[in-house]
Amino acid sequence: MKICDVVAHPISVPLDTPFYFSQGWVNKRSSLIVEIVTDDGISGWGESLCHGQQPPHIAAAFIEQVFKPLLLNRNPFDVEVLWEQMYNTTRPFGQGGAAVNAISGVDIALWDVIGRSLSKPIHQLIGGAFRTSVTPYATGFYRVANGKYPDDAIDEALRYVDAGFSAFKLKIGFGIEEDIDYIHTIRAAVGDNTRIMADANGAYNAATARRIIKSTEDAGVYFFEEMLPPEDLQGYKEIKNESKAFIAAGEQLFGKAGYQPWLSASALDIIQPDVCSSGGITECKKIAAMAQAHNTMLVPHVWGSGIGLAASLQFIASLPSTPLSLNPLEPMLEFDRSAHPFRTDLIQGAITMEAGEVQIPTGAGIGVEVNREVLEKYRI
Ligand code: CA
Repeated sequence: MKICDVVAHPISVPLDTPFYFSQGWVNKRSSLIVEIVTDDGISGWGESLCHGQQPPHIAAAFIEQVFKPLLLNRNPFDVEVLWEQMYNTTRPFGQGGAAVNAISGVDIALWDVIGRSLSKPIHQLIGGAFRTSVTPYATGFYRVANGKYPDDAIDEALRYVDAGFSAFKLKIGFGIEEDIDYIHTIRAAVGDNTRIMADANGAYNAATARRIIKSTEDAGVYFFEEMLPPEDLQGYKEIKNESKAFIAAGEQLFGKAGYQPWLSASALDIIQPDVCSSGGITECKKIAAMAQAHNTMLVPHVWGSGIGLAASLQFIASLPSTPLSLNPLEPMLEFDRSAHPFRTDLIQGAITMEAGEVQIPTGAGIGVEVNREVLEKYRI
């Protein structure tokens, strides 16, 4: 089997109601969908995550200008060989960011080709399923113009609880005292039986983060995510050693080399690689092995379309809990509930929560089919 085409599909659409978080406004949702076509007629699909307002054209340029010439006429089963060659080729101008986002999309598409050619879901090809379903947590709590906070957030929290979610993640990073009051208010509104996380998107330093973490100990936050910018390894180590809540980060780290110093420094309780950003299935499996060797938990970051969601579920199926035991802390699925006009429509058959769980797709490859009409509708 040979690769005969590599197509970057940049898609984007403005939001009817823009929203904001601690780093600014989100006015549109975008993604880069990667299609790999083989000489025996298989199309494999992957996704390169667009963080925040990241334009999909950047990763598309890596794919069209650098990776397509490297991939044409190659065997998709050489997926790890191709990964290392893509990474090495872009090393002087890559190592992270959109370069590794692009490699991630190609890698997922290659695994999708392999899975479709063998009629097996990806998780069956990378070690099997430690679980056939996963508990999702709702990601939302973005803020909108003219919103009333915390009132609107209380309503949102109660909607998730009513819908059957056992966990959700707040957006924080709006100021020390506001965040402390907010976390206490939401905990009081939903009671003690819901797992609450909080994500500051890198809005603090160790001193300000420590004050929030210490002042909300009685609210039992499960993990604090990205309290600090991703350059501040020493700051993370400091807050981790002070915190009862778990300290999580990693959506802005890339590849084995990106995670290595964080794991060896024991700077995080939970790492959060994203298969659509941190290196695809191939690299994230290695990052997971590194996490296991350091006995560090892994809860993937997920913020893409249905393609990225399906690929993430394949990865999650293959993750051992760290460590294994009769009643371990399991990975969770980050289940984005924020506004996204094509997240669900891009794939055929919605990925949904039933009885508080999301099933791992069992179809070939990523496990779902792509809706080409929707892809064309939002293509830019
Ligand atoms: Ca986040």
